[in-house]
Amino acid sequence: MSRSSTLPVVAIDGPAASGKSSTARSVAEQLGLLHVDSGALYRTATWLAVRQGLSEPAAIVAALDQAGITLVPQGAGLEVRLGGVTVEPAIRDDAVTARVSEVAAMPAVRAWVDRQLRDAIARAGGGVMDGRDIGTVVFPDARLKVFLTATPGARAERRLRQVDRGGDPAEVAAEAERLAERDRLDAGRAVAPLRQAPDARVLDTTGLGFAEQVAQIVAWAREAGLSAD
Ligand code: C5P
Repeated sequence: MSRSSTLPVVAIDGPAASGKSSTARSVAEQLGLLHVDSGALYRTATWLAVRQGLSEPAAIVAALDQAGITLVPQGAGLEVRLGGVTVEPAIRDDAVTARVSEVAAMPAVRAWVDRQLRDAIARAGGGVMDGRDIGTVVFPDARLKVFLTATPGARAERRLRQVDRGGDPAEVAAEAERLAERDRLDAGRAVAPLRQAPDARVLDTTGLGFAEQVAQIVAWAREAGLSAD
């Protein structure tokens, strides 16, 4: 059974706003596993850099080490806290989103985040993690790898609906442009770029409802022998 040598991890990667985090959370709940949103840590690093006016990788990592960052169980997931206070929703601000790809391209920051991610999964004995490089770099031995995609227009519409700014075609086009730019930066960086693992199963969610996409991944995970029960 070659699968027994792989980690009890579901890696869900894909471009910006493809629904990875909400899907991963629901998959984790249904399988009784921990959900880890790796993007939240890159956003935390970026938020700290913006707040403290830092642009050097070593300074950002030193600030992360000094900030007292903890990952606290919250429902099926982990909440990032700084000095005991949640970093949500500040890390979702447009100012952070606009800078996050630049900070996430720094190898020293990636090494810091990867340590947190691997520690969290080791403590829990497995989990469902979403990001850009989970199946390729962080957990190349993940038992199931999923690459979640949707057309840029569908992703932009979903993102705007989440923040109650949906509807206007010009806004959708501008948001699709911002998502494409973030994907271009994330896919073009030298270290751990956004990329589909060769052994990932691709799920295009453009025409799927949320429940359908979750059910598909849960079915794949069960086929792969993954569930807490
Ligand atoms: O998933 P989310 O959109 O919140 O991620 C924010 C940013 O964090 C991404 O655009 C990317 O630059 C970075 N990221 C990454 N590797 C991951 C997860 C996120 O580089 N595994």
